[in-house]
Amino acid sequence: MITPLIAANWKLHKLPSEGVAWLETLLRELPSKAHEHVQILLNVPATHLAPMARLARGTPVALGGQDLSAHNEGAYTGEVSGAMLGDAGASFVIVGHSERRTLHGESDELVNRKLKAARRNDLVPILCVGESEAERDAGEEALAVVLEQLRTGLRGLCVSESSALVIAYEPVWAIGTGRTATADDAQSMAATIRSELRTLYPAVADSIRLLYGGSMKPANAAELLSRADVNGGLIGGASLELDSLLAIVEAAG
Ligand code: PEP
Repeated sequence: MITPLIAANWKLHKLPSEGVAWLETLLRELPSKAHEHVQILLNVPATHLAPMARLARGTPVALGGQDLSAHNEGAYTGEVSGAMLGDAGASFVIVGHSERRTLHGESDELVNRKLKAARRNDLVPILCVGESEAERDAGEEALAVVLEQLRTGLRGLCVSESSALVIAYEPVWAIGTGRTATADDAQSMAATIRSELRTLYPAVADSIRLLYGGSMKPANAAELLSRADVNGGLIGGASLELDSLLAIVEAAG
C-alpha cells in the first residue's frame, strides 16, 4: 500500500511572511488524522523554507525546494545548493520541472546532475517528466519523450529505497492551462513509467510514488487519484488556495 503524496508547487508566489501565515492556518484546519492516509508536501521558494520549516517541525507537513544547483558550492551566483535547501528545512526538491526545462533551457543531462546532487544531500528528488502538446499529438512520440527524460534523467542514479525517489508525470500542455489529462491517459503513462522503473530499480519500483501534475484541482482529483499508478499529485495553481489544497488532500485520503 503506497501512501499518496500531495505536493504543492508554489512557483513564484507568496511572500515568506504570507507562507508562514498560510501554513499556520493549514495546520489548524488539517483534519487530525489526514496524515495517516496522505503525505503533504509544500514545495516553496527557497526564501520561505527556513521560517516555514520551523513552524512545520513535528507536524505532518514536509517542505521542499523547487530546484537546486548541480554543484555543491563555488562561484555560481544565484544558485542554491542541495545542502543549503536541506539546512533550511527541505526534505524534497523538484527537479526538471517543465518550466525549468523550457524557460531555463535545462537538458536531461543537467537534470541528471541535479538529481545526483539532490541524493548526495539526502533530499528526495521529484523528477518531472512530460511531453509537449505537439509531441502528444504525434502519438508514439509522447512515450518516447517521457522514456528518454526518464532514462537520461536517472542515468547512474542509485535508488535502493522506494522513498528516495518520486516521479511526476506532468504533460506540459496541462500545466497551468486548466486542461487535464484524462485519468486513463494519466494511468497509461504512469504504467509505462512504472514498467521502466522495474527495469532500472527492480527491487523497489513497485512502491516508488508516481504523481500526476497538470491542472489537478478538487473537481478532478478523486478521479485521477483513483488510478492504480497515480500515487499523488504535483499541484500548482490549486495549491495556492488553502481550501482547494485541503479538498485535494481529502480526495487522496
Ligand atoms: C505544476 O506547476 O507542476 C503544475 C502542475 O501546475 P498546475 O497545477 O497549475 O497545472
